[in-house]
Amino acid sequence: MSEIYVDNNATTQVSPEVLEEMLPYFNEFYGNPSSMHTFGGKVEHKITEARARIASLLGASSEEIIFTSCGTESDSTAIRSVILSNPDKKHILTSRVEHPAVKNLYEYLSKNGYRVTFVPVDRKGRLDLDYLYENLGDDTALVSIMWANNESGVIFPIEEISKVVREKGIVFHTDAVQAVGKFPIDLKAIDIDMFSLSGHKLHGPKGVGALYVRRGTKYTPFIIGGHQEKGRRGGTENVASIIGLGKACELAAAHLSDNNNQVKQLRDKLENEILKRVSNTIINGDRNNRLPNTTSIAFEYVEGESILLMMDEFGICASSGSACTSGSLEPSHVLRAMGVPFTAAHGSIRFSLSKYNTEEEIDFIIEKLPPIIERLRELSPFWKKIK
Ligand code: PLP
Repeated sequence: MSEIYVDNNATTQVSPEVLEEMLPYFNEFYGNPSSMHTFGGKVEHKITEARARIASLLGASSEEIIFTSCGTESDSTAIRSVILSNPDKKHILTSRVEHPAVKNLYEYLSKNGYRVTFVPVDRKGRLDLDYLYENLGDDTALVSIMWANNESGVIFPIEEISKVVREKGIVFHTDAVQAVGKFPIDLKAIDIDMFSLSGHKLHGPKGVGALYVRRGTKYTPFIIGGHQEKGRRGGTENVASIIGLGKACELAAAHLSDNNNQVKQLRDKLENEILKRVSNTIINGDRNNRLPNTTSIAFEYVEGESILLMMDEFGICASSGSACTSGSLEPSHVLRAMGVPFTAAHGSIRFSLSKYNTEEEIDFIIEKLPPIIERLRELSPFWKKIK
């Protein structure tokens, strides 16, 4: 068997249909979309189409979509835009479990003149909404809360939060990089001002993202240069990737419920069988309110990295819940914020599925994983103590 790829929250395979649509724009239609000639105009036309496809998936208008180079750039653009557009307000708020794209920028801003509130989560990864609302003030410029967490898969109540935040006249941004394509989103019906997405998380290419900016929202560009994106983001467009992102959004819209029902069934089978076959195993995150493709499983008293290495020998690609910082394997900030005990956080593995996974692949993981955990536990002094 070749690779079994269950690491789709890290990145996804580019769909064949996406690749096919991109290819002519490398060497056949290579014109610059800003050129006046018809050749360039053909490219401009496809970019307009891509913008409309993204807008349609999100329930937005085309002119509310700005192309960027990735999810990180979309997040940075949104956050920097809000603080530059509201120079008198010096308080910003986010959650403790954001992706580094938001978390690290907030930490940087906390050292550069901003008062920053990080909202905690509970043991299941659910946001403390009372804490969030209590900390909104007249000085708050921005609230940025991710829609779905990349590690636990937990989905936050963005509809409710954005409503409360906007009623107070505060700008609301959401990092929806892990949400897009995984459940229906209708930005017309929700009070979101800014919304980030990334191509490579939904079977589009890497190196392209988009930022939704609601019509009427004050906006200051991050990359200032040419007139591209109506002056909202300078730089010649990454044409083929933009076209790929548009196609990926079109496919996501057409197959949203089929794909996600299928993926959820496989995820549930994987999770339930592992829980049945392996003792001292915990699911990290709210099982009732999660992305359909994600499960974060803590195997107590084993090292996640050892599990990953042993799975890798069978071609199984997943992620651990640790971040390799300064030579030591620290549990990730997400698992720490959730209060996952050390013994469990260290042995946490994230499986994130896609529409390309098959039942045969899931059965293979279910067969190979329990003996791996058993072998590793036999070597664990902690395990011997509690046995
Ligand atoms: N936000 C979330 C929630 C993510 O999961 C990721 C990528 O893992 C990003 C932002 C960054 O996206 P990109 O890799 O396109 O910069």
